Amino acid sequence: MSVITDARSQGRLLRPTAKVLPEHARAHNRAMVLQHLFHAGPGSRADLARATGLTRVTVSDLVATLMAEGLVGELGARSEGRPGKPGTLVGLRTEAFQIVAVDLADDERMHGAVLDLSGAVLQRRAVRPERRTGAGAVEELRLLCRDLVGAATAPVLGVGVGSPGVIDPSGRVLQAPNREWFDLPLAEELAADLGVPVHVANDANTAALGEFTYGGASGGGLLVLTVGGGVGAGIVLDGVLVQGHEHAAGELGHVTAVDERDDLDGAPLGRPAPCACGRRGCLETVLSVPALRRRVEGLAPEEAATSLAAVGRRLGIVLAPVVSALNLSEIVLCGPGDLLGGPLLDAAAAALRERAMPVVSSHLQLRVTSLGEDGALSGAAVLVLSGQLGVT
Ligand SMILES: [Zn+2]
Repeated sequence: MSVITDARSQGRLLRPTAKVLPEHARAHNRAMVLQHLFHAGPGSRADLARATGLTRVTVSDLVATLMAEGLVGELGARSEGRPGKPGTLVGLRTEAFQIVAVDLADDERMHGAVLDLSGAVLQRRAVRPERRTGAGAVEELRLLCRDLVGAATAPVLGVGVGSPGVIDPSGRVLQAPNREWFDLPLAEELAADLGVPVHVANDANTAALGEFTYGGASGGGLLVLTVGGGVGAGIVLDGVLVQGHEHAAGELGHVTAVDERDDLDGAPLGRPAPCACGRRGCLETVLSVPALRRRVEGLAPEEAATSLAAVGRRLGIVLAPVVSALNLSEIVLCGPGDLLGGPLLDAAAAALRERAMPVVSSHLQLRVTSLGEDGALSGAAVLVLSGQLGVT
């Protein structure tokens, strides 16, 4: 993902991942202005110049263009007493455009929404697709996107889709075995059909963007673990979403967590179960939502707590080397709070503290998302904000 912001001028911004070329300077400056208005709220042109380090002339010119595009509006003069001429406040018109976001993390249900630019959900759809794999699933997704674009009550800035699988920055799904999608130019196909820009990214990566932008997470070393039909992770390091060598960074769901030779902590996790990836005992086989629900079904509360703690301990064991290698500051679990909070989270934290040096583990925060079920949709919306406006 190429993001065009200046991390030094403000705290919570993604850094540019490539050198900004002279011909990109205008887009870069435009993104800085939008970014500031998005996070800091309305300001005068002088405020914007100070915050971005751009000249007053450049800022006035950019604001004029953004006003002509309808993205920015004037809100009248500043009311508080300051020396000199009161500046006219300008602000992002968060209601002037809308974003369509779709979350494909759940195999059985596609979730979609129309959001305004502040991330507020205006309309929702959830469909149980008849066709869940291959071209049929693409068609179901296309119909859902069309429905949502049609339901928007303002011009649509773009469509963002979070999907399981390995996905390159152009929105091509390299592999998503559960959907039987291989080398599929999903963003390109949807954009051609819908007539608006489409951004597609891995669902755990979009969840990480959602936590970073709307969930109050720090970008200093964030790992977001999504627990649904499968398990995935998105990582933001020093303000940059980590893609990895083959765009597959964060595929922790298929790290072996249950081994034939393990003593299994005295609270049997059972034999290593076969995984969708063709191997056995992957983290996903014990931590996915269906696996956790099967595990606690029919158990008394105390037994259920012990059983969930055994999974949490495995999670902590898998995370300890990751936390140590990257010196992360925060781990956020996204999924059902009734399963992930409490004993599972506590056992994961205990295993982490036990297995990583205090300097690494003592300040680490481990928590369940505060964004609830809308986290994935917020993240998909951030894909569009980031892709179209340079705002994260
Ligand atoms: Zn696996």
